[in-house]
Amino acid sequence: MRTRVLICSDDGERLETLLELFAALPKLPGAGARKWIPDPCLSVTNASKRLDGADILVVDHAEALAVIDALEPSPDLPVIAVLRQDAPDAEELLARSHEFLPDLEASPHLLERTLRLCTPEARLSTDIEYLAQRDLLTGLPNRRLFERQLELALLGAERHDRRIAVGWILIDAFESLATRLGQSGMEQLIETTGQRLEEGLRRSDLIARASGGNFLLMLELAGEASDLADTADKLLEAVSTPVDIGDVRIEARASLGLAMFPQSGRSASELVREAHAAVEDIAAAGGNDFRFVNAELDVVSRRQLQIEDALPGAIERGELSVTYQPRLELSRMKIVGAEVLARWHSPEFGEVSPDRFIPVAEASGAIGRVGAWVLRRALTDLGGWLRNGHSAHLGVNVSAGQFSSSDFADRIRSELAAGGVPPAALELEITERIFVDNVTEHLALFDELTALGIGFAVDDFGIGYSSLAYLKHFPVHALKIDRAFVAPLPDSHEDAAIVRAIVALGHALGLRVVAEGVENRGQLEFLRNAGCDEAQGFLIGRGATADAFERMLDGSAGADPLDFQTDP
Ligand code: C2E
Ligand code: CA
Ligand code: CA
Repeated sequence: MRTRVLICSDDGERLETLLELFAALPKLPGAGARKWIPDPCLSVTNASKRLDGADILVVDHAEALAVIDALEPSPDLPVIAVLRQDAPDAEELLARSHEFLPDLEASPHLLERTLRLCTPEARLSTDIEYLAQRDLLTGLPNRRLFERQLELALLGAERHDRRIAVGWILIDAFESLATRLGQSGMEQLIETTGQRLEEGLRRSDLIARASGGNFLLMLELAGEASDLADTADKLLEAVSTPVDIGDVRIEARASLGLAMFPQSGRSASELVREAHAAVEDIAAAGGNDFRFVNAELDVVSRRQLQIEDALPGAIERGELSVTYQPRLELSRMKIVGAEVLARWHSPEFGEVSPDRFIPVAEASGAIGRVGAWVLRRALTDLGGWLRNGHSAHLGVNVSAGQFSSSDFADRIRSELAAGGVPPAALELEITERIFVDNVTEHLALFDELTALGIGFAVDDFGIGYSSLAYLKHFPVHALKIDRAFVAPLPDSHEDAAIVRAIVALGHALGLRVVAEGVENRGQLEFLRNAGCDEAQGFLIGRGATADAFERMLDGSAGADPLDFQTDP
């Protein structure tokens, strides 16, 4: 594939610089066969003659706006403006161009990314912005949009000292209803439930669909807690009003967990998590009820304190371990690597899930030591496999707290050296939050580690922030599609559309796309057909010890990797 880029400047020296930038375009892994053909041009009159057949137009003019006016580029000819420091109408120029390059300081990487964002594939996938914010069945906001709006509301509430309740509603016995009603019956039930919840709320409240029979609520609290209890009652009643689906009359029941700002949490994700924990408790206790988190708050925090106390000693006592969840390359159906997952076997608490102890470690600062231990263990094992002649790469999860620590890059460097592992075999999995907090600091660390040859994957892609702009500036290598989008495959049209859009977006940017949480063959088939590069999940393997994983690497050539399911 060739893409002709018409570069139009009014200054020979600057034109040279731009051409040099093109000449320095890196050959990134996975960049495919696309060739950028730069076509230089020094005058506007010339440019308008040569506009025909150009795929992308780069304008570098002190009077770039005038040039855009003169050239009247067609709607499917994207314009990249080089934002000169002396450009008098920078704002308007931004509005009239599709992308921009910060004057001539742009790096080849940035140029490459910007070009990619202008290719037809990338423009097609802008649909993702809509798809990624709405639940297409009910038309309600999805979890991601909900959390964003909640963040905004929380800022307002903080300023004006208001209280907000966050609710998680779960349709009880969802699985058995699904068996009874089938796919289209369930869709009807979910749609009706969404409508009724919406009708039961005030305009200032917000309702969203998280997934399956899960809905999220945001209520501004004006009055007493007892008013909230009335609202909760009303909502549960609305869900259980009979609905006729075909010739079946259904009286669904629901559970509702409510978390309160500021008492039960201060961030959107914290509040949603608390509400979810509360609703799970209710569902486990039979459902059809609501509960405030506050009543439970003591218990939760006491347990957290215990975990916090015990965690530092856990490393010394050898209670931590790692498990390797295999990653399957879909084109070759070959195990090519693994994600490293931390495990804590506590004599006091039993098996503690990382979902529980990692957040505690983050909050208490112990995450640095936990992360360092995991990294050393993983790179030691990986070094062994590589020396035994295997090829494999490992994904290691990294929390924001680790990323911010000053010796992070040094530690990675020395652990790679100690394990005898080439940097390219290590991929750090980070969530989108890192791209938004302390951007300049993180960007520097990023560049440093990328220069070493280490890869980065965006974990839980799709459920975090809705702006994709960071992908331009941070040199990531892979997107990991959150398992929330994979679970409903292949039946859910909207999740199928989102997954396809993420694959298109990733590939347009030259990134690998990895699907998480693959539990059945239907999902795997869908992902293969969608062109996804790698998959991981219980279908392929839950997680293996170092020895068991090495055997998977051994046997995977030629054999069906799906025979290698290993349970912990
Ligand atoms: P994550 O990075 O999204 O990891 C994937 C989680 O999904 C793992 O849970 C894994 O066991 C689970 N999973 C994998 N395949 C499937 C599947 O097919 N179905 C379902 N339902 N689940 C699947 P786990 O091990 O409990 O880890 C939870 C989270 O804890 C991880 O989420 C990660 O954010 C964090 N974590 C784990 N180990 C570490 C670590 O060493 N350092 C840091 N900073 N965080 C870690
Ligand atoms: Ca991960
Ligand atoms: Ca994940």
